[in-house]
Amino acid sequence: MQLMRFLVLLCLFSVSAMADSPRYIMLIGAPGTGKGTLGDKLSKTEGLPLITTSAVLKNLPDSDPLKAEIVDKMQSGELVPDALIYKAMAAELAKPKYSKGAIFDGFPRTQKQIEFLNDRKMQIEFVVVLYADDEILVKRLAGRRIHEPSGRVYHVDSMPPKNPGEDDVTGEPLVQRKDDNEWTIRKRLLDYRDQTQPVAVWAIFNQAATDGVVKRVVLVNASGSFEDTWSMMCSKLALESVKLNGCR
Ligand code: AMP
Repeated sequence: MQLMRFLVLLCLFSVSAMADSPRYIMLIGAPGTGKGTLGDKLSKTEGLPLITTSAVLKNLPDSDPLKAEIVDKMQSGELVPDALIYKAMAAELAKPKYSKGAIFDGFPRTQKQIEFLNDRKMQIEFVVVLYADDEILVKRLAGRRIHEPSGRVYHVDSMPPKNPGEDDVTGEPLVQRKDDNEWTIRKRLLDYRDQTQPVAVWAIFNQAATDGVVKRVVLVNASGSFEDTWSMMCSKLALESVKLNGCR
């Protein structure tokens, strides 16, 4: 009888611990595969804050002695050194708004950055790996124009503003990211193959490890429209028994 009561209590304790544990979702994909757009939508449907690593870096205070080096690397399309990323992400994740979990866009991007997850024994509910042909990505990124104050994104061919070079809502000028020129895009894609694809491979094998931090991984073709990418992600997650609010 005593043993029975103990087991019931243990069960209740584990269920409530699971319900309270933070949810982490990770998006991996070459520049231009649409991690940001996917992350935005997932953030709304799942009610989880999105951590866009490049935004975390951009928002570091100008007084930070390493800010100039970081901005320089970002503009030239080079990865920011792991130690700086580790520090910036630790500070970001410590904020109370991430107590229920987070969606990672652009992290981890190197094998060294995986240590961050291992050190914290973070459980990643699922990883979405987006892939597309390099030529599609070059076209997407080279034509991308941004309204910086709002973050609205346009494309000169596939989603042009009503008036060339102007934001539809405010009429303010659109800008091209410094790292969205063809030479830098190709360099970023090479870096992705070299440094970040191994992170995707790690995630795939980690999901099979009994003590792994990754629970599920889905590979999604991001060559088409955003709607296609979203519905493919939903179908693949459903096959893995992952049910999302935005996938019905
Ligand atoms: P993104 O907006 O994701 O294309 O990132 C823009 C730039 O931010 C990259 O080219 C890097 O310079 C920097 N960056 C973003 N995330 C990371 C990361 N996890 N590790 C190193 N550098 C990063």
